[in-house]
Amino acid sequence: MKAAVLSTPAPISSSPLEIEDVPTPEPKPGHVLVRVRACGVCRTDLHIVEGELPPRHPRIIPGHQIVGEVIGGELGMQNSTATELRVGSRVGVTWIGGTDGTCTYCRRNMENLCDSPTFTGYSVDGGYAEYALARADFCFPIPPQLDDLHAAPLLCAGIIGFRALRVSGVEKGERVGLFGFGASAHLAIHALQAWNCAVYVSTRGESHRKLAESLGATWVGGETDKPPVPLDRAVTFAPSGDVVLAALSSLRKGGVVAINAIHLDRMPEFDYDRLLWGERQLRSVANMTRADARDFLELATAIKLNPKVTKFPLEKANEALRDLKNDAIDGAAVLIP
Ligand SMILES: [Zn+2]
Ligand SMILES: [Zn+2]
Repeated sequence: MKAAVLSTPAPISSSPLEIEDVPTPEPKPGHVLVRVRACGVCRTDLHIVEGELPPRHPRIIPGHQIVGEVIGGELGMQNSTATELRVGSRVGVTWIGGTDGTCTYCRRNMENLCDSPTFTGYSVDGGYAEYALARADFCFPIPPQLDDLHAAPLLCAGIIGFRALRVSGVEKGERVGLFGFGASAHLAIHALQAWNCAVYVSTRGESHRKLAESLGATWVGGETDKPPVPLDRAVTFAPSGDVVLAALSSLRKGGVVAINAIHLDRMPEFDYDRLLWGERQLRSVANMTRADARDFLELATAIKLNPKVTKFPLEKANEALRDLKNDAIDGAAVLIP
């Protein structure tokens, strides 16, 4: 099969992904083999390809927003989804490729924090390829209303953005700030609107600001601009500590900032008395649970969420990541093998 393979992490400007012919994965117990129909491109892929996340294997196929068609493997009743996977079923595969099910976190319904997780496209091969192997109990049925191309970005950008809203504790009708307006935020705004929240967007990039305006943001400003009113919640998407501080300084007392980033450039020193005192909270958002995935896909279907998508052929995986890094993609990038 054709795949985009990473051997040596390097700046994306040097095109570290190589398009190669590699063996199609062999089915193994508890797994299904899927034919990849679309795979979303995520900022985490960029962190893997550029080496900000240390390599786990000498060679890896990235990609963890896979919409695939089951073509073989172990089928049957799936753990807690009560959904039967059949040959021909369309499923989504996410960043959480598996958990041990036995650690303290898994036993407390916090499987996103599992001590021995499997990460798709990082600890096992992912979806920048024609075929991928996935644990059957971590595959999610894709509702027929969602087509391949538009379902793909929901699987990480969408689900993790949704989890970030949950972690921030957002309630109906609140004022919520989104700091950074890429693939994840442009989906989160739809969920917030469904909950009658007023959305304040601070982001770099004129086209991202235009997109936020066109999607009905109450207020739109620059990357570290402060919204005109105190916010109840804020979610930061940019991998920048300065942006986290801008979000923190925008909060009312008791407000929460959820940091939706697997990697930050650094965390600057800040004034506790002025910025955190008053029971303000700073929280990180790590991975997702299967419940987040199911709940978000249900919400996305109910509100007819329609992501803005830019298509790339698999051969252009490096270009897609480069455009993502340069903020040159409005909405989400999706690879088609
Ligand atoms: Zn991701
Ligand atoms: Zn666990």
